[in-house]
Formats: sequence, C-alpha cells, structure tokens
Amino acid sequence: MSVADAEKLELIRKDEKISDHEFTRELTEKGYLIEESEESRLYRNRYLDFIDSRDKDEIQIFFVTNYSCNFACTYCYQDQYNILIRSLIMRLLMHFSVMFKGICRA
Ligand code: SF4
Repeated sequence: MSVADAEKLELIRKDEKISDHEFTRELTEKGYLIEESEESRLYRNRYLDFIDSRDKDEIQIFFVTNYSCNFACTYCYQDQYNILIRSLIMRLLMHFSVMFKGICRA
C-alpha cells in the first residue's frame, strides 16, 4: 500500500470525502467498504443463522487439558501453564460422561 492510499484510508476512516472514486469503488467491490446499515443487516443475519444452526448442531465440548506448546524450545519458561494433573482430567471426563449420559454417542 502506498502512502497516498494510506492517507486516503485515513480520510475514509474519519468519514471524510475523497475524490478518488476508483479507490473507493475497488474497496467496495472487495467488501472492505460498506454502508453501516448494510453491515448491521449482514451482522444480524449472520447472528440469526448462528442461533438457528446452534440449535440444530450436536453438542461439542472442547476441553483444553493444558496450554503447553509443542515447539519445546530449550529456553522456554512456559512450564507453569501445564498445571492440570491427570487425576483432575479424569474426574472432569467422568463428570462429563455423567452430565451427558444418554446424549452422547459412544
Ligand atoms: S518459547 Fe515456549 S511457548 Fe514459545 S514457542 Fe517455544 S516452546 Fe512454545
């Protein structure tokens, strides 16, 4: 992006008019520039679609047992994030199996 384009974007961000209609047309075509009312409409529709699909979808549980990283850099100091112990993990899994008994597929 050129400095001139960055300056045009800053003017648009401040809701000021720019004379380069080709620039605004390109931004509009790519979906970067949109009327606020249209953005609100699209957001509302996406949210309603999400609510509909959520009601129909299966229950999914993501259980993060630790935050450890797979890179294993020798200088890493992130060990403290690997704090869940095996017995706690097993208790949580037992709790889930009771909580969702009859709902989950084996
Ligand atoms: S420093 Fe630690 S957290 Fe960062 S990438 Fe390496 S292993 Fe992962």
